[in-house]
Amino acid sequence: MHKIAIIGLGPRGLSVFDRIIAYARNDTSASPLELYIFDGKEFGPGCHTTDQGSHLLVNTVACQMTQFSDDTVRGGGPLLYGPAFADWLSSKSGSAPDAPAGRVDIDRNGYYSRALFGDYLRWCFDYVKKLAPPHVTIYLHNFSTVEDLEWKGGGWQVSYDGQGYLADFVFLTTGHARKVPTERERELMSKVEAGRMRNPRLQLVLEPYPIRNAVSGVTERDTVAIEGIGLTTFDLLAQLTSARGGAFEPCGKTEPAGRLRYRPSGKEPRILLYARSGLPLTARAANQKGVFGQYKAKFLTLAKVEELRAATPGGQLDFQRQIMPLLLCDMQFAYYFSYLHQRHDRLTALVFSNEFLAADSAAARQTLIDKRVPRRDQLSWEAMVNPVPARALQSRRQYDDWLRGYLWRDVEQALLGNLNSPVKSACDVLRDVRDVIRSAIDFAGLTEESHRWLLGEFLPIMNRLAVGPPKERIQQLLALMDAGVVSADFGPGARGVYDEDAGCFVVRDHWGGSEQANVLVRARASLPGPLEDRSPLMRKMVKRGIVKPFMNGAFHPGGITVDRNMNVVGADSAVQDTLWALGTLVEGCKFYTFVLPRPGANSTTMVDAGRAVGRMMEAIAQRDRQDEALPAMDGPAPALAAGPAAPACAFDAWPQQAGAPLPANDLAAA
Ligand SMILES: Cc1cc2nc3c(=O)[nH]c(=O)nc-3n(C[C@H](O)[C@H](O)[C@H](O)COP(=O)(O)OP(=O)(O)OC[C@H]3O[C@@H](n4cnc5c(N)ncnc54)[C@H](O)[C@@H]3O)c2cc1C
Repeated sequence: MHKIAIIGLGPRGLSVFDRIIAYARNDTSASPLELYIFDGKEFGPGCHTTDQGSHLLVNTVACQMTQFSDDTVRGGGPLLYGPAFADWLSSKSGSAPDAPAGRVDIDRNGYYSRALFGDYLRWCFDYVKKLAPPHVTIYLHNFSTVEDLEWKGGGWQVSYDGQGYLADFVFLTTGHARKVPTERERELMSKVEAGRMRNPRLQLVLEPYPIRNAVSGVTERDTVAIEGIGLTTFDLLAQLTSARGGAFEPCGKTEPAGRLRYRPSGKEPRILLYARSGLPLTARAANQKGVFGQYKAKFLTLAKVEELRAATPGGQLDFQRQIMPLLLCDMQFAYYFSYLHQRHDRLTALVFSNEFLAADSAAARQTLIDKRVPRRDQLSWEAMVNPVPARALQSRRQYDDWLRGYLWRDVEQALLGNLNSPVKSACDVLRDVRDVIRSAIDFAGLTEESHRWLLGEFLPIMNRLAVGPPKERIQQLLALMDAGVVSADFGPGARGVYDEDAGCFVVRDHWGGSEQANVLVRARASLPGPLEDRSPLMRKMVKRGIVKPFMNGAFHPGGITVDRNMNVVGADSAVQDTLWALGTLVEGCKFYTFVLPRPGANSTTMVDAGRAVGRMMEAIAQRDRQDEALPAMDGPAPALAAGPAAPACAFDAWPQQAGAPLPANDLAAA
């Protein structure tokens, strides 16, 4: 009998569960397994809770999300067939408020509610559970938050609510965590608390999720300043406007198609949006690639990354110098193919593509481009990174005018689609080649300096260009600006501060002006590293030396340390071959762990889960062989494989994150 525990059963835990059942169904030895599953909430949905409002949307089109493996997944173990989200949607009725009843025609390229997606995940859990073979016994512990994990010499003890459960193998898939406030945040919190004596409507929100709770106390008399204009902000806007009875309507025939008008309910607060860049994320274009269509890298290939690594002393790459030029070539390739196809015809685009691929230098490629494309229409990375022209910075009024035009042009491109719009084609490359980008970054693949640059400079730009909200959200933002509900014209470098004398928050704009607010929301979902994670489980694991923060040199990009099999590395640097961690817990050691699996794309989530479970099944088979070889005898059973030998570790014994603080890493999801 082998005992397995999964701690956390959101999408990642579900992938592990799926792999265990798939392997067990194919295990001819039918070695008996006991599976203990723990989650602090219900099984399946994770952060896509089923009780949230239907105005909060998943950020990925329906046809590009699944919980099941397919033939493209390499090294993920046996297949277990199951429906992708869109298939489930068209054949099932969910229990969420906006769930369609019976078999319905669905929009496969539409964005559905997270509650409905959570319902799918809940269904997936039941589906996989029913497929468990008889030699697998499953013990369910939902609404059970695990508080401790301890090595007991012969195995792990998983504890919650004063009860301990022994396991030979443990998977940590605890996902999104809450953050311990920093010293500065605590100071701000106490100042705001003191200020409430004078101004009872003062409110500071540092943890925006669940959104419903975060802004439930806000009324139409309030002014809400929102810091950051990423995905979380679009959730907040929906919560503060359409969820309060406001409605977005088409503008009518006099306005361009896609232009919306906002009809207020009267319950909206006034909303001030500001960000370091002064810019919102760009809109996700209409999907023209179907389920499986993906740009395949021509320049930044896996083989090229390996070649570069082999040729680099020490093996650590410089992203800016070695990876960016190749990535830009791929973006150019996609851009000019789309441009020439739209402006001329497919044949012209194909001929150009051949020439572009054959050109042997950047200068030769530029000559080709100059021959076919006027300067003003050429792709410019610099212009994408910094689209704000000097004239827009002359005054707040001019910035506002420019921003509205910029947002509308973005909507127009998004309406064209991710193949027909040259610029959206180019930006989509950043999503489509993400696995290659990962291969350059994962497991300290970059130099320490380059890793800092990547997270501080490149990541926010990548998120802005490629991982924005559905285009409808930008259309709605424009309508809210037109209706005077939202101001987003604070310009680059705007910041929010607390003015103790005035007893309110102040948003300072680029030009030295300011506006007051009585509510401040920091709109980013936190991704705390292990030392700032509020969960008792993580704090105990750190203290016991079971986990250690991942370091690239003196830089801690976040997350705990795992090896390539996703086995957790302890404080003594020993690999613990009976303990695995997957998902956001390892964000830092791995890159972009918070993305839902995509069908037909050799999803990293599936590969990682399959590899980890495959290793466990090998260990189980090996133990069975050892047991069979042992002569029957009395006495103690043989010890289990190596556990952590690490001593208890004081919290402050870890190297602190060096250098600049991590950038606002608004949760971007593809
Ligand atoms: C608001 C929001 C929206 C998102 N939207 C998208 C999207 O549109 N598309 C996309 O690709 N990605 C999206 N993401 C990214 C998200 O990371 C993934 O979609 C996915 O949910 C990650 O799954 P997970 O299992 O790693 O984490 P989670 O979804 O956080 O699940 C972790 C589970 O572990 C449980 N748990 C935690 N600690 C314990 C404990 N100590 N004991 C027992 N159980 C525990 C939790 O209760 C939870 O059920 C979004 C993330 C957020 C926060």
